[in-house]
Amino acid sequence: MNETSTDTSGARSDVIDVLVVGAGITGIYQLYRAREAGFSVQLVEAGDGVGGTWYWNRYPGARFDSESYTYGYLFSPELFDEWEWQEHFAEQPETERYLNHVVDRFDLRRHIRFGTSVNAATFDEAPGIWTVATDDGSEVRARYLVAATGVLSVPYFPDVPGREDFLGESYHTGLWPATPVDFAGKRVAVIGTGSSGVQIVPVVADQVASLTVYQRTANWCTPLNNRPITPEEQAELRAGFEAMREILNTSIAGFLHRPHDRGTFDDSQEARQEFYEHMWASPGFSKLTSHYTDLLTDPAANAEWCEFIAAKVRSIVEDPETAEKLIPQDHRFGEKRPPFVTDYYETFNRPNVSLVDLHETPILRVTDHGIETADGVQDFDIIVWATGFDFGTGALARMGIRGRGGVALADHWADGPCTFLGVQTTGFPNFFFPGGPHAAAGNNPRYNGDQVDFVTDTLVYLREHGYDTIEVGADAEERWTRMVDEGAATAVFGEISYYFGTNIPGKPKRYLLNSGGRPKLFKEIARVRNTDYRAFRLTRSRSASAASPPLRAGAAAEP
Ligand code: NAP
Repeated sequence: MNETSTDTSGARSDVIDVLVVGAGITGIYQLYRAREAGFSVQLVEAGDGVGGTWYWNRYPGARFDSESYTYGYLFSPELFDEWEWQEHFAEQPETERYLNHVVDRFDLRRHIRFGTSVNAATFDEAPGIWTVATDDGSEVRARYLVAATGVLSVPYFPDVPGREDFLGESYHTGLWPATPVDFAGKRVAVIGTGSSGVQIVPVVADQVASLTVYQRTANWCTPLNNRPITPEEQAELRAGFEAMREILNTSIAGFLHRPHDRGTFDDSQEARQEFYEHMWASPGFSKLTSHYTDLLTDPAANAEWCEFIAAKVRSIVEDPETAEKLIPQDHRFGEKRPPFVTDYYETFNRPNVSLVDLHETPILRVTDHGIETADGVQDFDIIVWATGFDFGTGALARMGIRGRGGVALADHWADGPCTFLGVQTTGFPNFFFPGGPHAAAGNNPRYNGDQVDFVTDTLVYLREHGYDTIEVGADAEERWTRMVDEGAATAVFGEISYYFGTNIPGKPKRYLLNSGGRPKLFKEIARVRNTDYRAFRLTRSRSASAASPPLRAGAAAEP
């Protein structure tokens, strides 16, 4: 419903219940859930279309590496029934089509304002309302602000001298233009060999005159093993939807893969080699989730799997020197987020593709026409920056969010994020950030969906109990943040991964995922419910109790 309140200048303005920022997979679901619960909701989105990360990362080759049907929404059996994913790991255009379908099917588009970025968001304590300023000069006033701005939404460009002087075309994988880039016959450089870089390389290699891959750190890449979903599999997916939903809604990592029940050295050497071959041929993340139980805890077990991958690389890549450069020397499997690839190693057998090892010949500068390393200058028509993101807190810290007393979120989190459940932080009442820092540790939409469900249930609770302000208590936040920080020491991904923020110069080194995993999130959410939200301070704001009735259930008025 809409309320009318009086602002500090005495002017009256409409106040909506919920403003969602970001039309990615989390924001769309939040818009759907809050509308369904009867709140008046608007969503503002910086892009000109829906999709969030799947809108901006439209580089050639971008595709899921979680299975399509485990990544999509599960809230509607009808939606699941009518959308036939074409591949086990859908390519970006299919995902973007799917998200557009969802938005139209549930009549959500009319509540989304595209091409609109948030410049500032200020919490006005007396009425308990957020005033959100956008780059088109307008303001939205909302009781609750939900930032669904994602963890991989601020692209990172390294501070390489001359980067902006390049006269050719220059693109970041995370800011890819809507108009297709013409690679035909061009001399192309790709800088970065994380999940994005290794996806684009094989896909453009046969179009370009030359492709030079600038690699700083080699990654343990294993095959994605994508393929079309057969008609029989489509039928099985539909018939098994409820069972699949149950697994995905309760499993630790949000995948369907079954965990293995044996340690590495329970098997003979021959059986282990057979198992590694089986893993190599298995889909995507199963190489982490269905591997030997001690893969990540026993260094000898990990080293043997790494040696198996290294042997594969040597057998695929014809030039022995290139093969050695593609084999990681400085980290074990799983210490960084492993990329999953299709024909990546094979691409280096093409005569027009070469690898530059930046440990041997670092980039000195970008020139007008190319890239200069310690080995000399190479000219290019296109430079692709596949150099990653300011993970976790990047977008939230840049939105100009100010909570109680005008404190900026960026200052509040100057030493790294502190949160409760990865959804709220002290000093910022009525502000939620599902899918942000301390959120996921597995298949993202599953974790983020859990958080959206919690946020929505919380808003309903507040409405039903006549509260209109909610702020997590310092104790609960301290407890959750300590759990995340302490668990980080034994987390799957190590300190060299961007999950600690260490890829961004000057960023505090703090773990940005939920090291307690999904079980811990479920346990804490249950505790919040069982204790009537004791972890939070719930209040009735002055203006709301004096001038407006408490928020109540019912059909939402149009914003
Ligand atoms: P990333 O994993 O952070 O990789 C960035 C790459 O850029 C790394 O190879 C890094 O080298 C390199 N780099 C950074 N600064 C550099 C510099 N100054 N000079 C040279 N190289 C530099 O980023 P990403 O590949 O975009 O992937 C980010 C995440 O997005 C993934 O981990 C994944 O979660 C997600 N993603 C998912 C999919 C999917 O679902 N299929 C696809 C793509 C991305 P160093 O390693 O040496 O730092």
